[in-house]
Amino acid sequence: FENLIKEDKQVYDALANEIDRQNRNIELIASENSVSLAVMEAMGSHLTNKYAEGYPGKRYYGGCEHIDVIENLAIDRLKDIFGADHANVQPHSGANANLGVYFAILSPGDKVMGMNLSQGGHLTHGSPVNISGNYFDFTEYGVCKENGTIDYDDVRKKAHEVKPKLIVAGASAYPREIDFKKFKEIADEVGAMLMVDMAHIAGLVAAGLHQNPCEVADFVTTTTHKTLRGPRGGVILCKSEYAKAIDKAIFPGIQGGPLEHIIAAKAVSFKEALQDDFKNYQQQIIKNSKKLADELIDRGFDLVTGGTDNHLILLDLRNKNITGKEAEKILDEAHITVNKNAIPFDPESPFVTSGVRIGTPAITTRGMKEDEMKTIAEAIDLCITHREVKKAGEIIKNLTDEFVLY
Ligand code: PLP
Repeated sequence: FENLIKEDKQVYDALANEIDRQNRNIELIASENSVSLAVMEAMGSHLTNKYAEGYPGKRYYGGCEHIDVIENLAIDRLKDIFGADHANVQPHSGANANLGVYFAILSPGDKVMGMNLSQGGHLTHGSPVNISGNYFDFTEYGVCKENGTIDYDDVRKKAHEVKPKLIVAGASAYPREIDFKKFKEIADEVGAMLMVDMAHIAGLVAAGLHQNPCEVADFVTTTTHKTLRGPRGGVILCKSEYAKAIDKAIFPGIQGGPLEHIIAAKAVSFKEALQDDFKNYQQQIIKNSKKLADELIDRGFDLVTGGTDNHLILLDLRNKNITGKEAEKILDEAHITVNKNAIPFDPESPFVTSGVRIGTPAITTRGMKEDEMKTIAEAIDLCITHREVKKAGEIIKNLTDEFVLY
């Protein structure tokens, strides 16, 4: 960073502090990960200088011959990973990928179904504070009160009542495998299209560990920066018949020039996802998540759904007499980073919550395995049950010293 230090010490200092924080803390935010240095090099490159509105071979700017090579590599690799007919790698984010699908096939006021935000869904799946909930007529489905798993009977019942044009499946805080085939059956029964937002589990799907939604859904969206371990961004996969509509919806529909430095970094991360090692990494994410879940259960913690099938755990903290907000703060003091999260049917407000979401993608990237999950569970328990933050902090310091990030 020698140029940055010389030119802008203020930004450099904050950047340096942030890498210290990332090294010093145990990163348990389920939607975060740490990319490879190769991905970072592509992202921080001169490709940011280039305008390339349009698509490979059909650009509105000259000088795109090398950019085309890069974007085609990203597209081909992404299609290869998920066995999809068509891929658009230009969405700047997961939210944009979802908006792109909506803009491609819906008109304002159209009926859609999506998972309730407070029961695991995402803002872009119809929340009233998001454009999705404002422009389209969303009906929410959710989870069973008894066991916290998706209530497919409720989805079917509501789908038959509402007759939506589109059903959105996928979640941000759901610890179990989602049955996309069942969603497809329901969508077919009512003549709806199916969109799967696999943002959280894309890496698990890439490794063949969860059902591949590309086999059944009309549209699949994902972020690239969660379990998939690429740069911050989004992509859309779809069947050939929707290729044109999707491409038009992203550009010129909702975006201008693509971020080709990010697309290059996406291409690099997709190459990484095609290596054998990536499957081992994804398997370890799940092993770590299950082990951490077991260790927390042994220490008297309640888990929504009683466990996990994926990269995340949702703790219901009510029996520990602490809110999600307080737990987030106390864990942070011990250098454990999590986010407070609503649990299904949460009696607390979204700013307070009764839960905490914990994920293993980032710590698994750092090389941690089952033994370290036991240590982390011990530290979490020390903070939340016994309020021994100092002791927990020492345990975490030993771990972060041993498992160096970069
Ligand atoms: N979809 C799901 C399921 C998510 O969990 C998220 C982000 O957390 C998004 C979409 C939005 O992604 P982004 O933050 O890149 O807009």
